[in-house]
Amino acid sequence: MSERLYYYDSYLSQFSGRVIWRSEDGLEVALDRSVFYPTSGGQPHDLGQLNGIAVLEVKEVGDRVVHRLEAPLRDDQVHGEIDWGRRLDHMRQHTGQHLLSAVMEEQFGLRTVSFHMGAGYATVDVEPNRAADWGAVERAVNERLMEDQAVRVSFEDAAMAKGLRKAPDREGLLRIVTIEGTDRSACGGTHVRRTGEVGCIVLGGTEKVRQSTRVGFYCGARARVYLRGKLEEARGWRERFAEVDKQRRKLALELAGVAGERKYSELNTGQGRVLWREEVKEVGEELRASVQAYLEKPGAMVLLSSEGTVLLGAHPDVGVDCGARLMAAIALCGGKGGGSAKLAQGTIANRSRWGEAEAALLA
Ligand SMILES: [Zn+2]
Repeated sequence: MSERLYYYDSYLSQFSGRVIWRSEDGLEVALDRSVFYPTSGGQPHDLGQLNGIAVLEVKEVGDRVVHRLEAPLRDDQVHGEIDWGRRLDHMRQHTGQHLLSAVMEEQFGLRTVSFHMGAGYATVDVEPNRAADWGAVERAVNERLMEDQAVRVSFEDAAMAKGLRKAPDREGLLRIVTIEGTDRSACGGTHVRRTGEVGCIVLGGTEKVRQSTRVGFYCGARARVYLRGKLEEARGWRERFAEVDKQRRKLALELAGVAGERKYSELNTGQGRVLWREEVKEVGEELRASVQAYLEKPGAMVLLSSEGTVLLGAHPDVGVDCGARLMAAIALCGGKGGGSAKLAQGTIANRSRWGEAEAALLA
């Protein structure tokens, strides 16, 4: 039988032990005691080394903890050390899960039926499967987390243990993890000493899995990495959107130019100047692009007006100085403006003499 040192102290990262079983090829060994956590209860195994040989996998075989190694181990006495960063991360996810499950059950009526911790993110499956305000769940769990409650481990008889979140499925001695004021659960996993060490919890996506809802969550550094990733993703989308919008505007102006040429074809009777006279809502960028293209054609002349704006343009062969003519005409309406001989624009203050001004513009 292997003594599981992590049962009593999750913060122990080194130990000395003795080989009590080994496979013929020496690639698997069981020790009389170990800090290595074997895959169980939703928590993945530890990594690390025994006498300098990398531990690739740790599993429970009966009452033994079996370590699978990268190379054969021939010594009987071993010194081992776990990958502490990986373990601490697991402790944070696992403690966060206890809090999350407790808060979801107590405040939201969602009962946890299973837990799985992956390399990137962890999930709990909860029942019943229904929509919930996941933002409110996340807020409530983080508030509880920041109370920085103590997390204690005790060994109690199943028949005597009181106030467990989930009824024990076996008899005899249970290892019970208590989060002060929040949760008591039978669990063989590794946890931090105080909830504050979890850092924070961020909920990820949810999906329906059979009769339950699978809720993804990230604790500690994983939460930061997850949110950083989302921020970068959002920035990428913003840049992509800006680029697409630029392309869209460019195409819109090209189309407006084509519309200006078509306008000319429609109006052209083949006799004298080709006048485009229109009352418009406003003289925007696209309309100006249409006007520019239109004015490239022989005999083209344009007068666009809106509530307060006037635009006058003419192909050089029409022989009109648009800038001078516009200034003189809109002066009748208290307006001002100017431009080149080919294209001029101005504003008008009142329309009482507009008829006169319009006649002058089109003369
Ligand atoms: Zn646990």
